Amino acid sequence: MNIRDLFFKYQAQTSGNPLAIIIARASGHYIYDQNEKAYLDLISGISVSNLGHNHPLIKEAIKNQLDEHSYLMVYGELIQTPQVRLCQKLVELSNDDFNHVYLLTTGTEAVEAAMKLSKRYTGRNRIVSCKNAYHGSTQGALSLMSDEYFTQAYRPLIPEIEHISFNNLSDLQIITEDTACVICEVVQAEAGVQLPEMIWLSQLKTRCEQVGALLVFDEIQSGIGRSGEWFAYQKENIKPDVLLLGKALGASLPLSALMSSKKILSSFSNNPVLGHISTFAGHPLACAAALKGIEILEQMNFKLMVSGLAQIFINTFKEIPQVTFRQYGLLMSLEFENENKCKLIIEECIQNGILTDWFLFAPNCMRLAPPLTLTISEANEAAQKIKDIITNTK
Ligand code: PLP
Repeated sequence: MNIRDLFFKYQAQTSGNPLAIIIARASGHYIYDQNEKAYLDLISGISVSNLGHNHPLIKEAIKNQLDEHSYLMVYGELIQTPQVRLCQKLVELSNDDFNHVYLLTTGTEAVEAAMKLSKRYTGRNRIVSCKNAYHGSTQGALSLMSDEYFTQAYRPLIPEIEHISFNNLSDLQIITEDTACVICEVVQAEAGVQLPEMIWLSQLKTRCEQVGALLVFDEIQSGIGRSGEWFAYQKENIKPDVLLLGKALGASLPLSALMSSKKILSSFSNNPVLGHISTFAGHPLACAAALKGIEILEQMNFKLMVSGLAQIFINTFKEIPQVTFRQYGLLMSLEFENENKCKLIIEECIQNGILTDWFLFAPNCMRLAPPLTLTISEANEAAQKIKDIITNTK
């Protein structure tokens, strides 16, 4: 049996129609299939590979850490230098907006932990999240999702969750003195890159302060440079009580984090102790990769790179009458008249060596989230190719 047949025979599937491209290797901004066909990765594994694939310095950092030690012990017991240094570095990147960090492994686990932390810290049990947001697939994170199609098969989920509409000012009244926290993204990724209105974000913050609810920003997609700042909250100048990171944080290895104050995060360490524990949290190899990834971003002046690259896509796509283009740093969306058209364009892009896909709650929108290290000529060429495909596909 060939590897394709084995994939379908032995590996459990997440949908009836996976891309099923047989991958030979990946390097830089390209993924290569078994026939050496190159695909320009314009989605970075859904906002993960901010530095592209197989970055030599990341590989070196992982190897160096492997020579010292790999996994040792459940999170939080032993002092492991890469973990401590990463926590320190993240605090530094936040300009001391946060002074404490809890490392974990996946995005959904960070969301789960934030839900528990908010309940424990406030003594309340109601949580508010936004409609059309994706925060992960475990039962807690899934409970935050408003879309019945994805949730109804798994009920009962966690009770006392209320949904508000992103950017809707009157919905903020749903946040009350019973609310433990509001969990939302700064920019709604899976809704097809919905941009925040400044007035809404600032009133959301004010409302949370008024009623004593924690404000949790899920920056699992927008964090670590993709917004054009280290974190999107810095771009908006609205500081949450808890910041969630994942995806790009581990520079290709699994790693997530909660950033907050020592006061809030210490809720996990008493009454009950071990409020959240996890075997592989803050894996030393992932922390070493993360530290190197941040260093690389620092050295390449990523803020300038992100705005320069984004401008190329803006300039090219603003001229196409058939689409609506939205962009937040290098998190971008091309909206088509319907889902079929979008799928057709995505297929054409893949045929033409450009890897892209759609959004969970916006199947009529095509996702573009390229590595932040894309070159100007790669960006120009890819944008032009996509424009030609859109113009020529009837
Ligand atoms: N939050 C957001 C905004 C996400 O986009 C995702 C994943 O796509 C998650 C949370 C869940 O992260 P993970 O898949 O690592 O559990």
